[in-house]
Amino acid sequence: MTQIGPQIHRIESVFDGRWLASYLLAGRRPLLVDSGFAVTPETVIWPYLGQIGVPVDRLRWLVVTHASGDHFGGNGAIKQSAPRITVIAHAADAASIAQHTTFVAEHIDFLRAEGYPVPAISVADPGFRALHGAETSVDWVVQGGESLDLGEGWEVTLVHAPGHTPGHLVVWDPRHRVLFAGDALMGDGIPDVDGHLVMPPHYFDVEAYRRTLQTVRALSPQLILATHYPPIMGDGVERFLEASTAFVARCEEIVADLLAQPQPQPIIAATLVALRRALGIPGADYQYSLLARAHLRNQGVTMPPPPGWPAALSR
Ligand SMILES: [Zn+2]
Repeated sequence: MTQIGPQIHRIESVFDGRWLASYLLAGRRPLLVDSGFAVTPETVIWPYLGQIGVPVDRLRWLVVTHASGDHFGGNGAIKQSAPRITVIAHAADAASIAQHTTFVAEHIDFLRAEGYPVPAISVADPGFRALHGAETSVDWVVQGGESLDLGEGWEVTLVHAPGHTPGHLVVWDPRHRVLFAGDALMGDGIPDVDGHLVMPPHYFDVEAYRRTLQTVRALSPQLILATHYPPIMGDGVERFLEASTAFVARCEEIVADLLAQPQPQPIIAATLVALRRALGIPGADYQYSLLARAHLRNQGVTMPPPPGWPAALSR
């Protein structure tokens, strides 16, 4: 646990060897950024609030940065203990945050439908529920650009920062020049707590991810508080943005080189092998599949989903 500033708190835990951090902006109207997995509120967030003397039911807002289980899984537990809290998410991710079947369809199954090697997941699986918690509605669906008044003149802005997911949100605090970044940018990979890269950056859309890099650059944050990284400050901000930019360019090059050779078949398997070999970062098939798909699509190679697959899910 770390107090970052007088009213900014990092509420951290370790999951599977990696950092998992929620952030509390403890204004008169307290804002929490991300709820973690299903057990995170009980085991990590509530004890911390108790320690700093913020009653749970005083929480006013929960910003869910995006539709991933490690960011929305605790929503149900939070809503239960803080029923007056307003759960906020972007329009493009809100349905997946609120409904598990939509989440699995839009964030996992579409990959398998296109032929990527992603294991099937069932929402009925007790393991799924244990991580993703109870389905919880989103109270306020936003587009980005909205401001939240935390009290005493402290205002923060919600910024649409797509790429990692279509509806990723970041929270910008102009007073302290702090960006609460969720997973919007991922440097050159996600580290374990010892700093070794254990997962490649992954995103739905290369160009959207690049635009988000520009958006963050234009804000010029002094401090980036992301979910799976220690606080990024000082020169580290520029290094992180540079690493994020360089990673995308490197993957574009790897995939372009592959596509320039006599048409490798099957293309998905060849791309996965090429990316894994060139990047040398461990990672699950899910992350590599999402990464491969984004770069193949960016270079005009799309895999048709099976007949009957809703077009809306093939974004
Ligand atoms: Zn995450």
